[in-house]
Amino acid sequence: MERWLQSFWYQGAVPPWWTRPLSALFALIVRLRRAAYARGWLRSGRPACPVIVIGNITVGGTGKTPLTIWLVNELQSCGLRVGVVLRGYRGTAPGPLLLDDDTDAASAGDEAVLIRRRTGCQVAVDSNRLRAARLLEQADVQLIIADDGLQHLALQRDLEIAVIDGARGFGNGRLLPAGPLREPVSRLDSLALLVQNGGEFLRDPRALRMQLAAQPLRALAGAAAMPLEQLHGHAVHAVAAIGHPQRFFATLRAAGLSVREHGFPDHHRFNAAELQFGDALPVLMTEKDAVKCCAFTLPQHWYLPVTVQFAAHERQTLLGRVFMDARLLDILACPVCKGPLQHERAQSLLVCRADRLAFPIRDGVPVMLEEEARQLSSDDPLLDR
Ligand code: ZN
Repeated sequence: MERWLQSFWYQGAVPPWWTRPLSALFALIVRLRRAAYARGWLRSGRPACPVIVIGNITVGGTGKTPLTIWLVNELQSCGLRVGVVLRGYRGTAPGPLLLDDDTDAASAGDEAVLIRRRTGCQVAVDSNRLRAARLLEQADVQLIIADDGLQHLALQRDLEIAVIDGARGFGNGRLLPAGPLREPVSRLDSLALLVQNGGEFLRDPRALRMQLAAQPLRALAGAAAMPLEQLHGHAVHAVAAIGHPQRFFATLRAAGLSVREHGFPDHHRFNAAELQFGDALPVLMTEKDAVKCCAFTLPQHWYLPVTVQFAAHERQTLLGRVFMDARLLDILACPVCKGPLQHERAQSLLVCRADRLAFPIRDGVPVMLEEEARQLSSDDPLLDR
């Protein structure tokens, strides 16, 4: 089924005739839904804290979850208490679920567990993201990031970030089911930030370029690590149940591995037999798949963590926009005494009166490091206000 869809979504085959009226109907539904939310016929709401949505307009993986992890880490390093809401795809939990360290992928979904493990932040899953957001608010978070919520209009937001797959673009440019689009491409015109994940495709000069950088392989069982380069020239089994398995296989091939491909549908639940191939070759998988396989790991099972990287000026652009649109400069606390900070807009400073420290704001991004702060003298006019 997936292979058949890919053939006309991305590989130039002519879509079956009957998909065209269905796509026209889908376009109508998308438009009516947006109008209904805009006019208040469908109810939307928001928690009291700022909400940032990271999403995409195509079906399948584009790197939203690695970007979410990156953004959570960046904001946490400024001292912010960040929470993440997701739909919790294929999770079995009936209502909103707040993850703890023991929550498994079967009840919360693989992406939710991965985000929790990589950031330690509060994560809530629910098909109703507004309900999940309210649960996070009770858990004392200061801002909420919705992973994959671009079309979930019931949750109002302060900032939308769309991730574009740089390798596949928008395929044939058609809406579902004739093409891979969940919304018309024109939807991107209304967004403040576009992030392109790898590839050469460039729709929009505004798009910031993110790269996924492979980290050393980690053993599923135990704590062993091994650089990917160590397997250069070796044959491996590569297992991937993600939106676009070919991206993972290509990464391994680029590192000089001889890859035996085992692609599965996104979010597939593995059983032990699917990860055994009757030989002793290493079995490599994505980190998203690894969180589902804890129960039946063998010594030859490894996963490849990836981290998001931006050029320095694009990182600054992205974070500057996040701080501005989500009004985060006003909720930061002093990293030294945890007390309140005074935002001096004219001087681009955040001032802690108790410690007499002035933290710089560079291109809209605060630098919350004690060693970067300026010590103010007791008669400094900044302390008088
Ligand atoms: Zn302080």
